[in-house]
Amino acid sequence: MDVTTLTIKQAKKDLKDKKYSSVELTKSYLDRIKQIDKKINAFITVTEDEALVMAKTADEKLSKGNDLPLLGIPIGLKDAFLTKDIRTTAGSKVLENYIPQYDATTVKKLKSAGAVLVGKLNMDAWAHGSSGENSDFGPTKNPYDTQYVAGGSSSGPAAAIASDMCLATSGTDTGGSIRLPASFCNAVGLKPTYGRVSRYGIVAMGSSLDSIGHFTKTVEDNALILQVTAGSDTYDGTTPSVAVPDYGNDIPKGVKGLKIGVPEEYFIEGLDPKVNEVTQSALSELEKQGATLVPVSLPHTKYAIAVYYIITPAEVSSNLARYDGIRYGNSRETFGDEAKRRIMLGTFVLSAGYYDAYYNKAMQVRTLLKRDFDKAFERVDVMIAPVSPTLPFKLGERTQDPLSMYLSDIFTVTSNLTGNPGLSVPAGFVNGLPVGIQIIGPHFSEDLLFRVGYAYEQKNPLYKMRPKL
Ligand code: GLN
Repeated sequence: MDVTTLTIKQAKKDLKDKKYSSVELTKSYLDRIKQIDKKINAFITVTEDEALVMAKTADEKLSKGNDLPLLGIPIGLKDAFLTKDIRTTAGSKVLENYIPQYDATTVKKLKSAGAVLVGKLNMDAWAHGSSGENSDFGPTKNPYDTQYVAGGSSSGPAAAIASDMCLATSGTDTGGSIRLPASFCNAVGLKPTYGRVSRYGIVAMGSSLDSIGHFTKTVEDNALILQVTAGSDTYDGTTPSVAVPDYGNDIPKGVKGLKIGVPEEYFIEGLDPKVNEVTQSALSELEKQGATLVPVSLPHTKYAIAVYYIITPAEVSSNLARYDGIRYGNSRETFGDEAKRRIMLGTFVLSAGYYDAYYNKAMQVRTLLKRDFDKAFERVDVMIAPVSPTLPFKLGERTQDPLSMYLSDIFTVTSNLTGNPGLSVPAGFVNGLPVGIQIIGPHFSEDLLFRVGYAYEQKNPLYKMRPKL
């Protein structure tokens, strides 16, 4: 079976038409993982036995005519999602032997929707990073060129989609960790509105910024899986009871009449001209389809990275305090350099005498960033910007320079500080390396983001460009 041509939509149809069973489909993916993952390192744990049991159950349900949204579909999870009885490491040796006693809410929902879990995916330890290279389980390689990074921190979830090792993956995005690797790996990646998907049972990074979302090959597939995981959860007090729309409904409506904001502060010096070219041609395409491009300004953008790297470490230092080697974790000595750096930075900005100067000030600027977005969305329906200022970079290129690594997130962190959703959609290739654009919208406008992303994808179905592996 050639899984490289499959999408969730296609596989669902094939399963229904009995072209193959879920066990056969799952085995094809497991074989591919065995064959290819040596080169990519997307998986930390392959759950072969569990997958085959789940696939068998799915086949039984399929034969009874059961019609669950992800019935029999092989998926993978970033290793930050707690999975009952299955090791969950968060990419760190600190949790090398940690076996959770319960499933994250998202995992429960995916299982109830019939999904088949093929494994737990590689990530920067504790989700700190933009390249995947901070993983204690080795870096993930970019399937389009294995000398390059896959992007982080959800490196495994993006690379697993790009190399067709499953049909959908779940990740977390605290400052770009879904959108950036999606862009680097030619995948569709959504960071939903803060609170749209439950964070319960997911290893926390920055609790006021963490968003849970998914990677897929197509926009339609992404809408399909968000339909399963979105919604309020009594175990997560930050998930409001905003109704979950039918995400499939509006997708084919096109962009005619929509106003697309182009934020001037995202087209600055330091933006690779090639990335700019790809973004501009995507904008022209949408204009051709009837959207109006409107220049907008987000004047506080220049402070976003500084604000993010104060607030996030503050929350990280508090969240990581539970891995004290007594309740959880091997011992503090197993924390890597990046986690240590953030614990120190976070403790510093929260300490007496510095709290007002750094943490409080950053929180005030966070409000200004939110106002920038609110103001822009009074004038436009969505905004479009690059995801990353540069193309995927080479393995090792930025590991010695944390600041240059932090700058990869310059266009993604603001939506986390403001809570807005962002969808990364494949937009082109430069020198064989993928480039994505991001579509940013008002809170709870995921349906609109899918609609714009789909309109572009129809014209430019880049998911058909599979890497040579
Ligand atoms: N690269 C950013 C950081 O290192 C974002 C990480 C994330 O979104 N989890 O903090």
